[in-house]
Amino acid sequence: MLTEGLVVAHECLGEEAQRLRRLVLKGPIARTAKAGQFVAIQVQDSSISSFDPLLRRPISLAEISQDQDEITLLYRIQGRGTEILARARCGEQLSVMGPLGNGFSLPIEGELWLVAGGIGIFPLYALAQSALAQGLMVRLFWGGENQSFLKSAGLPAWQALGIPIHLSTLDGTLGVQGIVTGQVQGRLSELFGQTNQADPISPVQISVATCGPKKMMQAVTELCRNFAVPVQVSLEERMGCAVGACLGCVCTLVDESGKYLHKKVCQDGPVFLGEEVVWDESC
Ligand code: FAD
Repeated sequence: MLTEGLVVAHECLGEEAQRLRRLVLKGPIARTAKAGQFVAIQVQDSSISSFDPLLRRPISLAEISQDQDEITLLYRIQGRGTEILARARCGEQLSVMGPLGNGFSLPIEGELWLVAGGIGIFPLYALAQSALAQGLMVRLFWGGENQSFLKSAGLPAWQALGIPIHLSTLDGTLGVQGIVTGQVQGRLSELFGQTNQADPISPVQISVATCGPKKMMQAVTELCRNFAVPVQVSLEERMGCAVGACLGCVCTLVDESGKYLHKKVCQDGPVFLGEEVVWDESC
């Protein structure tokens, strides 16, 4: 759906040095949206031309409020497009396409583990909210550079959900020093006993949803495979049109019979089963 979103809030998220922003748009997208979907938002430098830059920028839905007809987008200013977006003021209308993509599937029961690296945390908040609303147990593993980043990128909002949270930072300023996969591995081993057991069984049914750097999602998928834990991964390829026409975001998957398939992240994803993603794209 191509529609307009009214900017009802647009503010700096946390410390300015982190270059993070929170943008709330009012419009019809919230009515049909689900966690894991995204919007393609038009950013225009009107001082140059209304077609510059030409391509919309994909941003995930961090919160969906059907009651208020509002979606919240959290983003980091990376380059020209997001720099222009950061200038949008309350009361402006922005052209948004969405909701796009497939979104996450919620398990029927058990414990949902969310594993985030850096700003990969953003789409997982909407997922946590819908999982909690459905009565699922939710546990967060989140790794970032340092304490300042984690606090700026929404840690207080996560703490307010009252769920168990395992943090890691590269410099050790908050949580365990190291990368987030270490914490996931530790918790899996605690639950299932030692790895490489012939038939590992957990007392509670676990499923995992992850978003962040590709290497991290690959590592999470491999860890979970050892324990037959299902993993959904949200891929973030660079996108052109965001509606499946330009083939700019194609990724390779492999099906159960070993056949390679090419899928569009914008239309068939961005969420895929970790086990079907071909992480080494040279095949
Ligand atoms: P550019 O000048 O285009 O690029 C600046 C830098 O960002 C370059 O180093 C470039 O390689 C890198 N970059 C650009 N696009 C991507 C991408 N897709 N993935 C990784 N690196 C990229 N960002 C958020 O901050 N919050 C979100 O919720 C969010 N959700 C996304 C959901 C999807 C499905 C996808 C595909 C991307 C998402 N991104 C998100 C990434 C965001 O779209 C890019 O950061 C943005 O397009 C950069 O545009 P730009 O013009 O500012 O930067």
